[in-house]
Amino acid sequence: MISMRKLTLEEKASLMSGANFWNTQGIEDKDIPSIMLTDGPHGLRKQGGKADHLGLHKSLPATCFPTAATLANSWNKELLYRVGKALGTEAKAEKVSVLLGPGMNIKRNPLNGRNFEYFSEDPYLSGILSSYMIQGIQANGVAACAKHFAVNSQELHRMTVDEIVDKRALHEMYLESFRLSVTYGKVASIMTAYNKVNGVYANEHPYLLTEVLKESWGFDGLIVTDWGGNNDRVAALKAGNQLEMPSTNGMTDQDIVMAVKNGSLDESILNERVEELLKFVETYKVEDEVEVDYESHHKLALEAAADSIVLLKNEDDILPLSNEKFVVLGDFAKTPRYQGAGSSLINPKKLDNFLEKVSKKDGYVGYEKAYHRYGSFSKRLLKKAVQLAKQSDRIIFFMGLDEGSEAEGVDRKHMRLPENQLMVLNELLKLSIPVIVVLSGGAPVELPFNEKIHGLVHGYLSGQASGEAMKKVLWGEVNPSGKLAESYPLVYEDVPSSFYYPGREVSSEHRESIFFGYRYFDTYGVEVAYPFGFGLSYTNFEYSNLEIEDGSVKVDITNVGSVSGSEIVQVYIGKNESKIVRPNKELKGFEKVYLRPKETKTVSIELSDHACMVYHPELGWVCEKGNYTIHVASSSEDIRISRTINMQGMDFDIDEKYNEYFNQDLRLLKHENFQEIMHYKLPGMRWNRSEPLGFNHMIKESRYRGRFGRLINRILEDVHHLLYFLKMPIAANNVLFVQNLPYRGAARMSAGKINMEMMEALIMMSEGKFFKGLWLYIKEWIRK
Ligand code: BGC
Repeated sequence: MISMRKLTLEEKASLMSGANFWNTQGIEDKDIPSIMLTDGPHGLRKQGGKADHLGLHKSLPATCFPTAATLANSWNKELLYRVGKALGTEAKAEKVSVLLGPGMNIKRNPLNGRNFEYFSEDPYLSGILSSYMIQGIQANGVAACAKHFAVNSQELHRMTVDEIVDKRALHEMYLESFRLSVTYGKVASIMTAYNKVNGVYANEHPYLLTEVLKESWGFDGLIVTDWGGNNDRVAALKAGNQLEMPSTNGMTDQDIVMAVKNGSLDESILNERVEELLKFVETYKVEDEVEVDYESHHKLALEAAADSIVLLKNEDDILPLSNEKFVVLGDFAKTPRYQGAGSSLINPKKLDNFLEKVSKKDGYVGYEKAYHRYGSFSKRLLKKAVQLAKQSDRIIFFMGLDEGSEAEGVDRKHMRLPENQLMVLNELLKLSIPVIVVLSGGAPVELPFNEKIHGLVHGYLSGQASGEAMKKVLWGEVNPSGKLAESYPLVYEDVPSSFYYPGREVSSEHRESIFFGYRYFDTYGVEVAYPFGFGLSYTNFEYSNLEIEDGSVKVDITNVGSVSGSEIVQVYIGKNESKIVRPNKELKGFEKVYLRPKETKTVSIELSDHACMVYHPELGWVCEKGNYTIHVASSSEDIRISRTINMQGMDFDIDEKYNEYFNQDLRLLKHENFQEIMHYKLPGMRWNRSEPLGFNHMIKESRYRGRFGRLINRILEDVHHLLYFLKMPIAANNVLFVQNLPYRGAARMSAGKINMEMMEALIMMSEGKFFKGLWLYIKEWIRK
């Protein structure tokens, strides 16, 4: 590797940010190559022409695999490895060195707009599945990039919000999946989150980046900002970040040079970061050529989709279908919802749909659209649907969330399905013909009709082969074997954070701490529509002969039905009487096993290295001494065999007040209550509307500062509504994205077109000093 003495200070600083939107800076005469980083988690989004981080401009065609929320339902480690490997091959063939995925954030609340990109509410499941995907991607010599580190739990104000979380929840829930991706998955790079964590931007967080990631987990790879997510360049370098993306056209390189010159940054720190970056570039530069077999990748996408479909209801064994006369209703059958919107948007190489996969010989009678995808209720569409339905014995009704409701940059406002779809379904249910609902969407929805339908099959967002996968499951060619990687609450108000998510203006307080997902529902006895780990099959499995050895569990599983199928065997562990409040039980191991009819296999399940661990607020990770119950289960609510074991660990004390905190209704916790378990004074939750605007204020905040600010925001909001009216929800969401940008972000994302001086002038204009600001802006523009 090149000696640091051969590089000038300016050259070293220039290496610390991108050369353009997707490439690192190379220096030709010093033999430093440039490498490419590109999205994304479930397919390659390499942009040939114009670049952006929101999926606005088209990318090259690539295989669109199911999104992480979908793949997680497969619980299939080996499948995740193979999907990762295919992703890595497509990346390598396009000379991409770093694939920006997997997304590893934990699903704190069902309304997070990017939940479809993440695996689970459970950190162990998320950490293990993503580790397999990482190993697959990296088997090609391409670096995976675990993102967004850390606690990126909402899209609202994502570039400025302060995610406030107690240390126990931080480690047990939000860092644990990243820990596994580093220690188990050996991920080569990490992308920091836009948000702050307890008052400090994640990208410049010495505790997260230095103490936890590097020192405690031994991570020695690349730490890259999220796109436009750099705040203080020098603070970030000191904390451990090496690379800012995308290019700021030298703007922030100047900050580094100045800091070294004025002594606020020790040049040895810069040297260290440059050396780390160059080592990474050297390891991951793509030199050899590979060919992609897109046909086999399509088949893998199909297998992955089919393996991830979850059968939630099958009354009177309505499924699998044989040759009953059926109608297909609902827009999603013809125009599938198969991925989410934003930076993960793939331009699929191929795209099938359910309709083209069914024919008369299956019993197909016809199709009707039944509802407007983005619109209001249509009597005409309903009438046609009802008329057609009357000619059938079965109604297959496709429904779900539309493209605008699950997107990067915006959280959902509620957990309901669109009203016009529900109205159609209600009318169909009056016909007394069994209805099978096929759901699409990357996150839980309320299911008010659940009692009245016969079948419920959830495809989630299953990629480019979603149609064929669903056909195979409905007719039993594939026996469904997916299980939910997240809980389905009955109503949104049952979610512990429902009254305080997604936070207020300044911060988002994680008052529920570790208790969300099944940890909450199970421990607090709250009924759900479908529990974590649940999914039906066309066969049944029996569990016997549990054996527990050091660090692993062995159990015999028998397929007692008449068709082949796969069972996901789950191991949960709970402490019998604990000094510290703990969830009833937590997932600590799982395995998927395929069995022919009457076949028995002994399944061996390795347990998490944190099987008995708890993160004590003062002591850190400890294994609490005493008795634990090991539950081997078919879902978090369907325990088949349990056994108590004793674990050697330590004894500790805990402040009783800490435990008492959790005796309250977690949904009603207030700022004052949360203060009791936090070790520092929490900031206020609202913006200070009279403080002068600065680089870290959002464009949205300018509406409180002067007429110009109000006007800009008004225009943005009107454009947003207009685009929605024109049925362009993705574009409409992107307008909101602009409003939520902090001024610094707007400057950094402009690739140097707007420098900080110009930004200052714009801030001045927003604050009411319009002409002075305009004059300064023009002056700076001419100077440039
Ligand atoms: C997203 C990242 C993505 C990046 C580049 C950001 O907006 O948060 O997940 O990798 O853009 O497109």
